[in-house]
Amino acid sequence: MAEHVLQDPVVQVTEVRELARDLVVIPDRRVQLVPNIGIIGGREAVLVVETGLGPGNAAKVLEFAADYAQGRRLFLTTTHFHPEHSFGAQVFAGEATFLVNRAQAEDLKVKGAGYLEMFKGLGEPVARRLRGVELVEPDVVYDEAYDLDLGGRVVQLRATGRAHSKGDQVIRVPDADVLFTGDLVEAAQFAIFPWFPPYDADVSGTRWLAVMQRLAAEGAGVVVPGHGDVGGPQLLTDVRDYLRLLRDETWIRRDSAVGEQTIIDEISALMIERHPEWAGREWIEKGVSCLCTEHPA
Ligand SMILES: [Zn+2]
Repeated sequence: MAEHVLQDPVVQVTEVRELARDLVVIPDRRVQLVPNIGIIGGREAVLVVETGLGPGNAAKVLEFAADYAQGRRLFLTTTHFHPEHSFGAQVFAGEATFLVNRAQAEDLKVKGAGYLEMFKGLGEPVARRLRGVELVEPDVVYDEAYDLDLGGRVVQLRATGRAHSKGDQVIRVPDADVLFTGDLVEAAQFAIFPWFPPYDADVSGTRWLAVMQRLAAEGAGVVVPGHGDVGGPQLLTDVRDYLRLLRDETWIRRDSAVGEQTIIDEISALMIERHPEWAGREWIEKGVSCLCTEHPA
């Protein structure tokens, strides 16, 4: 997020993958600022997970979803308020019921406009995608948990509490053993810490770790990460283990009063050695800085 994005963050609906009966993913194709997008069907209704960045992408997702639904009622949810996940919801107005957890709705209200400006600064391809964005309020807001009955298939929407953002939620499809995690989990990428004090300091390394310990314990046969390839339960344990190591290595150095820049340099080297194939190395530093502030005094 801190760096310029040169490639057009366009959603392509050409490599759609069926993960289970009546459940498909429009993959991110590893393009920055394109999320994995889910379409989950039941007898009566279809749930779309994530909009893509901006109204143009969202219109494409809606067109695909409406065609896929074949007259079934449409619902939309988003895993968290970040622009590539939710800044296209306006297109679904009148076509789908937009449903999210309360903390996410609050995030969007409080920080949406600021993120819109920040993302416009990430380069021309992103700014173009964000043209005409209007931030809309959800139709339905729930507090902790919502079971959405699509007809013969119940999807579980669960607020996780503050982690990658203040208002993350996960979406579980129990009959297919599929879990949509949003940016709580990325595949082959270091955990994204949107740590931008004083503008946004809501990400919490310790709470995120607690969420991942819970999700890893619950497990899931198929995990759809926010970005990167769909995988199995190891995606959950990988992130849990990374966050735990990041915390432990940060706090050990903090205990011995090592300066923050030294901590960053040492831990970045350590993590890159451990995960040489992972992208997003700039997020290690943000994670260390966040966890420094969470060090128990
Ligand atoms: Zn995010």
